[in-house]
Amino acid sequence: MRRKLVAGNWKMQGRHAANAALVQGIRAREAEYLGVDLWIAPPALYIDQLAGLVVGSSICLMAQNVAREDDGACTGEISAGMLRDAACVAVIVGHSERRSRYGDDDAVVAEKFGRAQAAGLIPVLCVGETLAEREAGQTEAVVLRQLQVAIDAHGVSALASAVLAYEPVWAIGTGRTATSEQVQQVHRVLRAEVEKNDADVSAGLRILYGGSVRAANAGALFAMPDIDGALVGGASLDADEFVAIARAARVAH
Ligand code: PEP
Repeated sequence: MRRKLVAGNWKMQGRHAANAALVQGIRAREAEYLGVDLWIAPPALYIDQLAGLVVGSSICLMAQNVAREDDGACTGEISAGMLRDAACVAVIVGHSERRSRYGDDDAVVAEKFGRAQAAGLIPVLCVGETLAEREAGQTEAVVLRQLQVAIDAHGVSALASAVLAYEPVWAIGTGRTATSEQVQQVHRVLRAEVEKNDADVSAGLRILYGGSVRAANAGALFAMPDIDGALVGGASLDADEFVAIARAARVAH
């Protein structure tokens, strides 16, 4: 039985006071998401602040990005070792915003995946097709290629300590959610691909969905057999909405 995971990606949003209020609001309702893993990815600058805010709670910290390199002369970058030192347990790699705007191609994503694991972080590998790719019938080919890059670089066993997130680009921040059936179909294909290589890894792999997840659609998504949680952007900035999504994951157990 895979434990449900709800992960919030704050992106480039937050301020000290607002962060404290948001975490306080989420913690106040901890009883509602017992048994669900809850991770938060604040901007890197605020990881230290959040490390203090989550003490004594079940909330874990995730980073939004990681350097391809180890510690050294890389101005402006943050290494996997630093993130681990700052109490992060996981890091997002391959988010579509980084793929499309910051040059994170498949090779870079594979490097970041490896750096994360070498430092003891869980990489949350994002895969997903654009609208044009979906309309051209290429969804499965695209996500399988993005998955295969990590498998080729690190072996299928690396997925035993990773999380996969299917995030169709056309559903991110658009209010347009893929239907639970569309998502289930892609998750099934991803899991089956891993299963071809290693049935145990496939059975244990958590595959999250991301793309305009809200409390209103979370229940239907989490009812699907291969949807193990959500990577949440916009709705993770609202304590009530975020907790309601996590509560839906709990109910779906
Ligand atoms: C995301 O950025 O990973 C995301 C899923 O965003 P949103 O929930 O706002 O669509």
